Amino acid sequence: MQNTRILLAARPDGWVDDSHFTQDTQPVPEPGDGQILLRTIYLSVDPYMRGRMNDTKSYIPPFQIGEPLSGGVVAEVVHSNHADFAVGDTVIGLLDWAEYSVSNGEGLRKVHAGGHPLSYHLGILGMPGLTAYVGLVEVGRVQAGESVFVTAASGAVGSVVGQIARNMDCYVAGSAGSDAKVAHLKNTLGFNDAFNYKSVDSVHKTIAGLFPKGINVAFENVGGAQFEAAIWNMAVFGRIALCGMIADYNISRSEMPAGPRGMTNLIGRNVTLQGFIVSNYPQAAPAWDAQCREWLAAGKMTYDESVAEGIGAAPGAFVGMMKGENFGKQIVKVGDE
Ligand code: NDP
Repeated sequence: MQNTRILLAARPDGWVDDSHFTQDTQPVPEPGDGQILLRTIYLSVDPYMRGRMNDTKSYIPPFQIGEPLSGGVVAEVVHSNHADFAVGDTVIGLLDWAEYSVSNGEGLRKVHAGGHPLSYHLGILGMPGLTAYVGLVEVGRVQAGESVFVTAASGAVGSVVGQIARNMDCYVAGSAGSDAKVAHLKNTLGFNDAFNYKSVDSVHKTIAGLFPKGINVAFENVGGAQFEAAIWNMAVFGRIALCGMIADYNISRSEMPAGPRGMTNLIGRNVTLQGFIVSNYPQAAPAWDAQCREWLAAGKMTYDESVAEGIGAAPGAFVGMMKGENFGKQIVKVGDE
């Protein structure tokens, strides 16, 4: 049996494209004592992986040229030399972008679909869903009835932020990069309002119009002009949960990232700005898992996925996600459930 893997071919300086990836095919690895062989079912395509393509020190080490990329994977145990794992178990963990991989079990968690698609463990029931909850509830300290603004609102994280806010009777408005995404936010996900940041005359004026009394909680996924506009429109004692700045991820190493300007607004208005990394909030996971399953069962939470097919489609799915081609959570289906 053969095993196709996706490797880093070169480090991007600016926009990532297909040339930064390559693939190889090798015999399926043999698990040793205390190891298991895993068959990949779904792999997750996440913006933070772009940072791992740079050779910079961060909270997670860089990918190495000529080595497989790795990320969130749902996989089936197909051979086990490990007492805690049996053939047929389904697990989630940080694994190689490969059809098969070997693991000693460290960092793996068994998952049960529980009536929901298995792929949800890479999305709403996984890291992106928890990110939405942690950012809005723990970092943003949102209260029922407050006003919430979220950028990249139709994506894996943003779509959950908006629905949590809606379920808490907040006023929620979001931005996204196409009219189809904006319509989906308003018509299906229950946002009170939404706008296409690429086509409005002024992001600043649009946000000011949507939040005449100011934003209580801004959930920032993008950075740049939208972040700046949110800063100018914060309410007194507002909170900004700084989750991501995807607008900066593909700029050249020789360029300075965009603003924001207007930080003095935060002083006079007593605004709290806090960045966060979801993996530092594991204690929030049980509460979110229970709440999320309750809302899913009650039809009070929906989730969209863009599914690319086959391991060879992973680089294109990643590049496309960076350009906004995904609708909801981007995943790759590598093998059958
Ligand atoms: P998404 O599913 O939202 O996909 C990324 C989206 O970002 C694209 O679809 C695109 O949507 C938007 N985008 C890309 N480039 C730009 C740009 N230049 N300006 C504006 N929008 C852009 O991804 P996720 O939900 O997985 O991640 C959202 C954010 O959350 C990212 O910044 C990510 O790094 C961050 N994150 C942070 C975590 C943490 O622990 N702090 C954990 C997980 C994610 P559109 O068509 O609307 O432009």
